[in-house]
Amino acid sequence: MITKGVGMKKEVAIIGGSTAGFFTASLLAKQGIDVRVFEAADCIEPLKRILIVTDYMRDVLGGLCDDIILNRIHHYELFADGRVGTVSLHRPDIVIGRSSLIRRLAKDAEENGAKILTGHRFSDLKPYGNRLNFTLSLDGNGSHLDASTEVLIGADGVSSSVAQKGGWPCQETVHLTQAIVELPGDIIPDTARVWFIPEETPYFYWLLPHSETQGVVGLVGKDEDRTKKALEAFLDRKGMTPLEFQDALVPLYSRWVPNHKRLGNNDVYLVGDAAGHVKVSTVGGILTGFRGAMGVADAILDGGSSRKLKALRTELDLHNLIRKFLNRFTQKEYCSLLDLLTPGTRRTLGRFHRDETPRLLANLLLKQPRLLLLGLRALIYRR
Ligand SMILES: Cc1cc2nc3c(=O)[nH]c(=O)nc-3n(C[C@H](O)[C@H](O)[C@H](O)COP(=O)(O)OP(=O)(O)OC[C@H]3O[C@@H](n4cnc5c(N)ncnc54)[C@H](O)[C@@H]3O)c2cc1C
Repeated sequence: MITKGVGMKKEVAIIGGSTAGFFTASLLAKQGIDVRVFEAADCIEPLKRILIVTDYMRDVLGGLCDDIILNRIHHYELFADGRVGTVSLHRPDIVIGRSSLIRRLAKDAEENGAKILTGHRFSDLKPYGNRLNFTLSLDGNGSHLDASTEVLIGADGVSSSVAQKGGWPCQETVHLTQAIVELPGDIIPDTARVWFIPEETPYFYWLLPHSETQGVVGLVGKDEDRTKKALEAFLDRKGMTPLEFQDALVPLYSRWVPNHKRLGNNDVYLVGDAAGHVKVSTVGGILTGFRGAMGVADAILDGGSSRKLKALRTELDLHNLIRKFLNRFTQKEYCSLLDLLTPGTRRTLGRFHRDETPRLLANLLLKQPRLLLLGLRALIYRR
């Protein structure tokens, strides 16, 4: 039944039934591993959230995601103090609904042989001989269930209980708030907008159309109340009315933390937001969560470390470096940034996506070395 690796574990318990957990479950179940996914919620009815990912999603999921795509973004318009720069994507970004994605991944995991147990909230973990014992509270009747496994994977999100019980450090977080709006008349549905206003946010405001008539406008901030107020003020200035808000915490990746630990004689891994695998330049975590899942699946199947995790680390570290530059940018630097978007630079930006940052940066700096100077100047003079 199992074809790869020597001394490979046969039984895996995954805590958390969302994007990272179900994707990991599929990868392992496909290879004959006995996989159980324990999800705290009573059923797979995830909160609605509009997401944008690069076309790399299709490389990872193949046709699996084709019929849940809501929209494709071909162009980005970048705004800074009256200046506008446009970047056209070679391979359009994909807009999807998180709930459809999760349901699709859950179905795929089950079809590959994983068992999904909802209403099971992980609460404790203890190594015992060659097993890991863990406790689950059963929602609804207040009772507990003791279970055990050979390998445990925490896919339980930003406030991961598995990470906490496994002794991982607490993660720094930011608040992401977005509002559904009717699209203003001057917006073309295949074009997303980004506004850099550093006196209001070191991140950016975005408008992302998910249909012909509607889009989401969003913002990342440290504090929930202030982020929501800033977003409301922005919407007011732009003459847009929020129809519904979507918000939650996301981890702020600041350095690579190994996502594997030995507890007693057994392995514990973290994937997705639980591992902090979020691109901190744009605060996107879906595809980096998938990459972490592929890395962990490789490590379990091959009984060692994974090259995919090393590549993910490089990716996340580069996004962190970009974020460090951007955090120091004033309006002046953002204006210079848009001025440096020559046709050649824009072509490079459109050719490589943000899930292949090593190639993107190498090509971008070859085309426009002054971008590096701009970043370094901000880093040195605005410490
Ligand atoms: C408003 C918003 C917009 C976003 N937009 C984008 C975007 O456009 N593109 C992008 O790439 N990323 C985006 N992100 C980030 C992205 O959504 C996350 O990185 C991703 O959803 C994380 O997936 P995950 O599976 O790791 O964790 P989660 O989706 O948080 O899932 C964790 C799961 O674990 C379960 N759980 C928690 N505790 C327990 C427990 N003790 N026992 C059992 N189960 C438990 C939860 O119920 C949940 O189902 C956005 C985030 C927010 C908040």
